[in-house]
Amino acid sequence: MRFECGPEWDIRVIDIKPKNKIGIMMTGGIDSLVLYNLLKIVMGDPSKILIFNVIALGDHGEGYDSPERVSLLTDRYDIIKIDKYIKHTENDKPYYKPWTEVLDLSQTHMLEDFDIDELYIGMNMNPPTEFFPEFDTSERPRRFWYTQETPNLPESTSTKMRAPFLNLYKYHILDLANKNNIDLRHTQSCQEYMHGHCGECWWCLERAWGYNQLKITK
Ligand SMILES: [Zn+2]
Repeated sequence: MRFECGPEWDIRVIDIKPKNKIGIMMTGGIDSLVLYNLLKIVMGDPSKILIFNVIALGDHGEGYDSPERVSLLTDRYDIIKIDKYIKHTENDKPYYKPWTEVLDLSQTHMLEDFDIDELYIGMNMNPPTEFFPEFDTSERPRRFWYTQETPNLPESTSTKMRAPFLNLYKYHILDLANKNNIDLRHTQSCQEYMHGHCGECWWCLERAWGYNQLKITK
């Protein structure tokens, strides 16, 4: 199914064609919630969509993206907690691995052990720093695509990853929410506050940037 989105000066089209049984990695944020809702529209039957939430300790310790938050956003109580590699996420343990590696391992685990055909993520583009240098800080998240930057991920995993928002900016995703009546009130973008928004961190600024861009008419 095709979805058009964005302000008139940057309209983009995405095509979502899920296979029979899929999974989605959800946080408490806007991107994965919008993606979940679009998948629900396309597939009709939400029971064919497994929802995963990767649990961490240490640096990436339990925060706003808890399974409880995902339940609140989706009205589902069958959120699958992925904690197979939780021991690796504590800095002071001998098994420590960087968060990105934990994510890679977790993705392979979800695809292999939960009998799904595809695994969806809400990854999208950071604001273009050539025009918005204020986003060029060390805080900015790593957003990438699989084959280029994760050479160690097995091909059986990378070929089943799906990121339909990969070529979208935040304002496209906010527009998809508007057009499809997706309620974003309970989403949490801020990485500083557990509830509400500080208005100053990278993620709060990106959210505000997205809303402002969408308002620009020409
Ligand atoms: Zn914030």
